[in-house]
Amino acid sequence: MRGTGYIGRFAPSPTGPLHAGSLVAALASYLDARVHHGQWLLRIEDVDEGRTVAGAGAAALALLARLGMHWDGEVLWQSARAALYQAAAGRLGPLVYPCGCNRREIADSRSAIAADGAVIYAGTCRHGLAPGRAARSLRLRVPEAPFDRIGFVDRFAGAVTAQLARDAGDFVLKRADGYWAYQLAVVVDDAEQAVSDVVRGDDLLDSTARQIYLQQLLALPTPRYLHVPVLRNALGEKYSKQTGAPALTPAGQAEAVGALMAAAQALGLGLSPCARLADFWRAAVPAWARQLDVRGADAR
Ligand code: GLU
Repeated sequence: MRGTGYIGRFAPSPTGPLHAGSLVAALASYLDARVHHGQWLLRIEDVDEGRTVAGAGAAALALLARLGMHWDGEVLWQSARAALYQAAAGRLGPLVYPCGCNRREIADSRSAIAADGAVIYAGTCRHGLAPGRAARSLRLRVPEAPFDRIGFVDRFAGAVTAQLARDAGDFVLKRADGYWAYQLAVVVDDAEQAVSDVVRGDDLLDSTARQIYLQQLLALPTPRYLHVPVLRNALGEKYSKQTGAPALTPAGQAEAVGALMAAAQALGLGLSPCARLADFWRAAVPAWARQLDVRGADAR
């Protein structure tokens, strides 16, 4: 069913300028919102203030506007919301525990390595800090197997089952540098913005079970999820600032259309060439709708 009640969002981290990879996620979430006659919200995920680049959030907004991607409502900035993340962590009660381990100790005692390369915490501080140790971070306890299973249906990937203890372990809610972790912030904010549909890159597919676990603990609704393949370079690495993705700085309408066309192609939309932004949008919205139909990605 396509109808009202749909609220989508794009949530870039302003750690640098938007690039071709970020535009793929932006375009997918924007088109999905438009096809569903829904709202498209923006959230600047500057929760990790240590990595935030001054001016990158405002530049991202300006670029989206130039590309004709107009958002609904007020933009939400995570850096202003630490008190809400703190309150949510407080509601998790004794499932949250202080961890005194440093990076080296976590790596040395790891129980496994997650699919995304992250170290799975061995649970050293689960039953209390050893005498003389100071808290560095806050972690969330996950259930032991077999009670750690989280299943969901991704609109692109289909049925996904994760095992939190095996795949993530007790994960960080507040980092040693004092910032609230992405996993907590994203759950609090998706709920507060009443997001019904999360459309984002599939590099975050592995995070989704942790987010659903948090939603369940906080009695928050779980949105629908659609993870689109992220752009990768010739080495198979995620296209990102770290792997050298250049900033998107379209000089005029032709370059703006070119950037959108490239993103649409990455999403498999197969549009005919066009020169004007208005023509691009006129073709892209129905093309996304057709693709949802072909994939059966709209079953509710
Ligand atoms: N801020 C994240 C990123 O830029 C996206 C988070 C999300 O969509 O949930 O990769």
